[in-house]
Amino acid sequence: MAGDEGRAGGRTRWVFAGQLGPLFDDGGPMMIVEARSVFGRRPMHRAKAHLLLSAMRHRAAELGDRVEYHRVERYSEVVDGRDDLEVIDPTSWAVRRFVRRRGVVVLPSRGFVTSEADFADWAATRQGKRLLMEDFYRTVRERTGLLMRGDQPEGGRFNYDHDNRTPPPKNAARLGLPDPWWPEEDEIDQEVRADLDAWQRDGHVTLVGDDGPRRFAATHAEAERALADFVESRLNDFGPFEDAMLDGDWTMAHSLLSAPMNLGLLDPRHVVETVVAEYHAGNAPLASVEGFTRQIVGWRDYVWHLYWHLGEGYRTGSNALGAHEPLPQAFRELDPAAVEANCLHETIDGMRRHGWAHHIQRLMVLGNWALQHGYDPVALNDWFVDMFVDGTPWVMPANVIGMSQHADGGIVATKPYASGGAYINKMSDYCGGCVFDPKVRLGENACPFTAGYWAFLDRVEPRLQRNHRMAQPLAGLRRLADRDAVVDQERHRERW
Ligand SMILES: Cc1cc2nc3c(=O)[nH]c(=O)nc-3n(C[C@H](O)[C@H](O)[C@H](O)COP(=O)(O)OP(=O)(O)OC[C@H]3O[C@@H](n4cnc5c(N)ncnc54)[C@H](O)[C@@H]3O)c2cc1C
Ligand code: SF4
Repeated sequence: MAGDEGRAGGRTRWVFAGQLGPLFDDGGPMMIVEARSVFGRRPMHRAKAHLLLSAMRHRAAELGDRVEYHRVERYSEVVDGRDDLEVIDPTSWAVRRFVRRRGVVVLPSRGFVTSEADFADWAATRQGKRLLMEDFYRTVRERTGLLMRGDQPEGGRFNYDHDNRTPPPKNAARLGLPDPWWPEEDEIDQEVRADLDAWQRDGHVTLVGDDGPRRFAATHAEAERALADFVESRLNDFGPFEDAMLDGDWTMAHSLLSAPMNLGLLDPRHVVETVVAEYHAGNAPLASVEGFTRQIVGWRDYVWHLYWHLGEGYRTGSNALGAHEPLPQAFRELDPAAVEANCLHETIDGMRRHGWAHHIQRLMVLGNWALQHGYDPVALNDWFVDMFVDGTPWVMPANVIGMSQHADGGIVATKPYASGGAYINKMSDYCGGCVFDPKVRLGENACPFTAGYWAFLDRVEPRLQRNHRMAQPLAGLRRLADRDAVVDQERHRERW
């Protein structure tokens, strides 16, 4: 394989923060560069900075004499002038450009179920058609044989989403699952903590959010432990409660595996095969296993490939809904104190504590709010990258610019993911503890999501009137007797 040739050429493999597991190691000399400037470009969640540093330093400790570990301000201090380096193709446009300009030998990327060549082949067969995730997912299932019985999908259907939209149990504060397994911090974490304190004190970095105990795996062994814990305790409930939210249950039945996968600690193929094996052994229901498989071999691979396919300009060149509002202080500083809307308050509070929120909180609370209020999509994209432990440049554009904000005008999702309080009320217990009422759109206790939904439609109506999937919502808007009053109320809203 290409990596072995690299070793034969006597090259040193430079691995990045997304390449810290065995999948990126073919033996031979390695190099990790801890460049402080990477942490100082923009404000970053403390938990994220901690996790990245901890994972890099743990990897260095594992590799021992085989690794050169550099602590510098910038990559160029180590890399310029060297001609013995190779990399597995990095995960952002900026770093790919950096290594190519310096003549570093580049090997094909790893860390996804499908290769970039696989996606290019598939995209070529779609000439003139939309590149839909669902079609890509089916092709991957067929090509890999995952959850297939011959040429038919296991159970007769490719997608069990329909069975996976259960609201949370009534009158339950939690799903009632055992607490997830948490890693134990060690002396490397203590050193990281001290270094971050010093960097912050000296003005090199701006850290946001709590300095909690590290919650996410920083080594391959910890990541395997987290995977086993998910399979044992939460996989069965993953499917039904995938879209549900509970005030008192910040993890629900989610896997918490995005961070270790994005750090390269776990091979996603191994993750999926482990979960699929549970179905074949009769230990897990098909709807949960299929739902989880789709998130990894469908969504995760798809957004990775779209990052390259849509080009570097996709992030900055898309603003189809004319959204230019700056992010408010509650978002920038992860400060829930000023937010009364219980769903948003709890989501921002959870982010402040953990640097993580689950998918529906990201899409239907944070993303929905930002969409309704016309936050600048690039600023929002970068905020998600910086504030989430699993945030990476490649994962965000399709999720934020495309799916969540519809800034691309419909390349990733055919209509904006906007909804009022009724959806949040159905899928969570947030509304019961809120000063606002999800059914009310006008007056003192009008829900800012419900009223905000109509005000959003009013604002974007001219831009979306040719979108046939928006015909029904826009017809509803036109029938709204108090439309002007609701729009006026939201324009002047002070309490949210
Ligand atoms: C606005 C927005 C921002 C997001 N930001 C990130 C991010 O910074 N990093 C990130 O990895 N994912 C991101 N996602 C996708 C998804 O929300 C997270 O992967 C998931 O919440 C992570 O928690 P988990 O590991 O418990 O996931 P689970 O719910 O257990 O899902 C299993 C896995 O599926 C993958 N996955 C599921 N959906 C997606 C998706 N849409 N895109 C990519 N992978 C997916 C992840 O690897 C995840 O670990 C974002 C989605 C939205 C809508
Ligand atoms: S009433 Fe509205 S603001 Fe309050 S929790 Fe429900 S959806 Fe959120």
